[in-house]
Amino acid sequence: KAVRFSITVMSVSVQAEGEEEAVTIFRESKPNSELTCKPLCLMLVDESDHETLTAVLGPLVAERNAMKHSRLILSLGGLPRSIRFLFRGTGYDEKMVREMEGLEASGSTYICTLCDSTRAEASHNMVLHSITRSHDENLERYELWRTNPFSESAEELRDRVKGVSAKPFMETQPTLDALHCDIGNATEFYKIFQDEIGEVYRRPNPSREERRSWRATLDKQLRRKMKLRPVMRMNGNYARRLMTREAVEAVCELVPSEERRDALRELMGLYLQMK
Ligand SMILES: [Zn+2]
Repeated sequence: KAVRFSITVMSVSVQAEGEEEAVTIFRESKPNSELTCKPLCLMLVDESDHETLTAVLGPLVAERNAMKHSRLILSLGGLPRSIRFLFRGTGYDEKMVREMEGLEASGSTYICTLCDSTRAEASHNMVLHSITRSHDENLERYELWRTNPFSESAEELRDRVKGVSAKPFMETQPTLDALHCDIGNATEFYKIFQDEIGEVYRRPNPSREERRSWRATLDKQLRRKMKLRPVMRMNGNYARRLMTREAVEAVCELVPSEERRDALRELMGLYLQMK
């Protein structure tokens, strides 16, 4: 497997002496382009192999930490300028975030890389979440995990550190990655499509059989019109195909009410605009 670690200069700002606010003089418009996103390190390594990955990236992380905590003084135009670097780690997928932040693998009870929610809690509350995890706290938790200062049982200790089980290695920005965002949204739309086909707004609490038949109808239509084969679990490719005008048109053929069809088209239109 190949793992690439790259860097982009996202923006440059200048703060004049005595001024409160900095002025941004450069902002990268294509941060993902290969012209601007330069590889710092290309390695042949399995990204889940924590030991090898940390050994290869170790020097890079050390240098980055040194840069974070110091200033570079350069003479530009005859005047010494003090330059500071701010790093933001982005573009990691969930697996890599877990790896970098020392969290248990994705099968863990501690399901979320952004908060302390467990699987059971998350299944009861899928909406109200806020980002509470941070790199510094993960580091503190690792110390608790390593030293077990309160002499707790393995179970108690694991609950205290909320699934931190390795030393956090590099700071990542706690955000949702684009892939999982797409998957989450498409999962929701897939449910909405079924409900609209069955006109659930007119008769709440449908039976399990009814729901199953709506789903079968939706699957059949998507297969016929979009060449989309039903999946056990939403994935990125399915999500990208489902979240299109074409797909919503296919679904609308099965929605009896004109008003609901328009609403569905508008909803997808808004989503695509937002994206
Ligand atoms: Zn969460």
